[in-house]
Amino acid sequence: KIRVRYAPSPTGHLHIGNARTALFNYLFARHNKGTMVLRIEDTDQKRNVEGGSKSQMENLHWLGIDWDEGPDKGGDYGPYRQSERKDIYNKYIKQLIDEGKAYYSYTTEEELEAQREEQRAMGIAPHYTYEYEGMTADEIKQAQEAAEAKGLKPVVRIHIPENRTYAWDDIVKGKVSFESDTIGGDFVIQKRDGMPTYNFAVVIDDHLMKITHVLRGDDHVANTPKQLVVYEALGWEPPKFGHMTLIINSETGKKLSKRDESVLQFIEQYRDLGYLPEAMFNFITLLGWSPVGESEIFSQRELIKAFDPKRLSKSPAAFDQKKLEWINNQYMKKADRDTLLDLSLNNLQETGVVGKDISPEKMEWIRQLVNIYAVQMSYTKQIVDDTKIFFNEASDLSDEEIEEIKKDDGRKVIEEFKKQLDEIPRFTAVQVMNAIQATRRETGVKGRKLFMPIRIAGTRSMVGPGIGEAMELMGKEKVKKHLDLTLK
Ligand code: GLU
Repeated sequence: KIRVRYAPSPTGHLHIGNARTALFNYLFARHNKGTMVLRIEDTDQKRNVEGGSKSQMENLHWLGIDWDEGPDKGGDYGPYRQSERKDIYNKYIKQLIDEGKAYYSYTTEEELEAQREEQRAMGIAPHYTYEYEGMTADEIKQAQEAAEAKGLKPVVRIHIPENRTYAWDDIVKGKVSFESDTIGGDFVIQKRDGMPTYNFAVVIDDHLMKITHVLRGDDHVANTPKQLVVYEALGWEPPKFGHMTLIINSETGKKLSKRDESVLQFIEQYRDLGYLPEAMFNFITLLGWSPVGESEIFSQRELIKAFDPKRLSKSPAAFDQKKLEWINNQYMKKADRDTLLDLSLNNLQETGVVGKDISPEKMEWIRQLVNIYAVQMSYTKQIVDDTKIFFNEASDLSDEEIEEIKKDDGRKVIEEFKKQLDEIPRFTAVQVMNAIQATRRETGVKGRKLFMPIRIAGTRSMVGPGIGEAMELMGKEKVKKHLDLTLK
């Protein structure tokens, strides 16, 4: 039975790259009717942030990703937070020390740094050199006791066997292998503070939690040989590994880094802008994975059905914010109207455009506004800018733009339209369109030369939904005020 896990370190909000890891594991689990485990990797206490795991879980849920076992759910293989598993790690650390496969190392941070500097100066890759080289067991014991007497605290390192090749058949990358002398020397499995290192804890947990497939980011490829060393030392069978391709910024072609401010990279940020979770889910799936065929819009159910890790791409995935906007717009057009109203209202309220108390009439008016603008928006927060003109007297237009539309027949059209507005029985979208047709008959002006001056003068905006609908919502008084303002 397939068991996969998503194992975030609670060092911040959910990043788009981590969300992708979670999502592919989720699709893989659900496609195979397997089990999805959520494990919190919080052993690096300096990097943990307050509320980090809560925020990760909330954002995963928002995206529509759930799990079968985890800190909030329980399960047969818990606890699911590494900080609560210290006893388990200690047991295996002790076992490896007893078997002579791991040892206490007293080389200090300063000594290690000096060692690395020297190695760099000699032009060789920095690595740890064995501190007990050539010593007998007794001599080692004496050296350790002397270090203890000096008050030094040890780390525990694992022996890397010499002249070995650590290889695996990667689900994404194919055959990958590392020679044992390129791994960087015996590495730390337990830190001075008694916490296990990532490369050690991850093996213990993946094994005890019976994980069958590890799908994770490309940035972990260099960790995998170290983990294989641990599996070997403990005599355990490793799971299958798949390392997903890098994500690059499609504008710059560079690896997407958290410091790159030209694109939004945290799920939370998209959530705040009013993106729809289904659209985000759809978009993220296409980062390094592609279904058969040309279509790009898929429901979660379709993705679960179609997901095949063999179609994970080897080449970098381009993160294209414009494409995400396009996908979200596709989803907005189909979205439930109440959902769009809720999101838009939230955006309007948090920016102070609309107050907290809203009368039923005003709510209905906002609903219609959202309805007519939804089709043109990439995300609901755009409503704040797009509909500014409905809420205050501001105008997007400069004096030059106003003069421009009055040129040629423009003034004549606007004057006639104003007159026609007094002729219509009710100020509705249909009647406004009738007034425009009457203006055409009276002035003989048609097409853009008719519509543009009317739209711009009447709504004080270059773009927008249908003129009739926009004006109906704006109300007769405001439209006439706009026309007067333009004509003066
Ligand atoms: N905690 C690790 C991370 O956040 C997980 C790595 C893994 O999946 O093995 O990158």
